[in-house]
Amino acid sequence: MTASLVLPGFVNAHSHTFQRALRGRVGGGDFWAWREQMLAEAERQTPALVREDYTRAYREMRAAGYTAVGEFHYLGVDEAWAAAEAASEAGVELVLLHVAYARGGLPRMRQPSVAAYLAQVESLRGEGVPVGLAPHSVRACPADWLEEIGAYATAEQLPLHVHADEQPREIEECLAEHGCRPIELLARTGCLGPHTTVVHATHADGAELDLLAESGATICACPTTEADLADGFLPAARIEHRRISLCIGSDSNVRIDPFEELRELEGIARRQTGRRGVFGTERLLCFGSDEGARSLGLERWPDLGIDLEHRSLAGVAPADVFDALVAGCGADVVVS
Ligand SMILES: [Zn+2]
Repeated sequence: MTASLVLPGFVNAHSHTFQRALRGRVGGGDFWAWREQMLAEAERQTPALVREDYTRAYREMRAAGYTAVGEFHYLGVDEAWAAAEAASEAGVELVLLHVAYARGGLPRMRQPSVAAYLAQVESLRGEGVPVGLAPHSVRACPADWLEEIGAYATAEQLPLHVHADEQPREIEECLAEHGCRPIELLARTGCLGPHTTVVHATHADGAELDLLAESGATICACPTTEADLADGFLPAARIEHRRISLCIGSDSNVRIDPFEELRELEGIARRQTGRRGVFGTERLLCFGSDEGARSLGLERWPDLGIDLEHRSLAGVAPADVFDALVAGCGADVVVS
């Protein structure tokens, strides 16, 4: 038997699993050009396709060490069921972050009212699917929707996940419509609290980061996707300075490798500060597992095994294994 090390499983706190199909297929243009191709992929999804493709992608996640996933889902209720079945088949814990979409996107993503959206959430909960609230963004949800969803999440003590500050254009549009920036709007509408996870926060300014710190909210960073989509750099050093909690997500699934996400977080912070060990290995591993679980409201999720005889760990002293995992290993060190 090979020597192995057991660790808490990694938690993928933000995935749009259907976007796995775009890997390697879409080059050139900017985020908005990519989004057009992403919407075309979303349009062709069916429950059967979700069931098949998500099972395969969740198996890829499981093999890479992600044992739980937050599926940020906007393809419809039947497809939500299919995603839950796929996760179960692949042996991954799933929290269905059911998306509220009032405007823009595709007709299949939208609900006619916030009451209709909350009824969908209730129906999924009623059937035992672990759910979280997910107003897509301040782009897709007007302020009155955010207020109702924020109040529901607080009353029901459910996680609330929302995209914010991924691209400069979203901030400009929010300033034009509301006279404030996206995270400020989330605060005004009752959507910020310890149960909140803001996905990306790439272009958050100091005042927005202060709001996240004061409210106890978490940021979900998705560095490999943020690089792929030319989003920008996470303000990692400013986040760490405020001790805002972080978790990770594979988002578009252009890569599925928690070690790489964590290494990118630390790498961005090093480039920004000119220092090494900004987060440190212990905290990075915590971002990858415990903080992700807390963000999804999960109390239990499976562990994973590390193959200590893997070639990536050859010559590494036992005392340095954890540091070496983050500094120099990929998902293939996970015992399958
Ligand atoms: Zn996303």
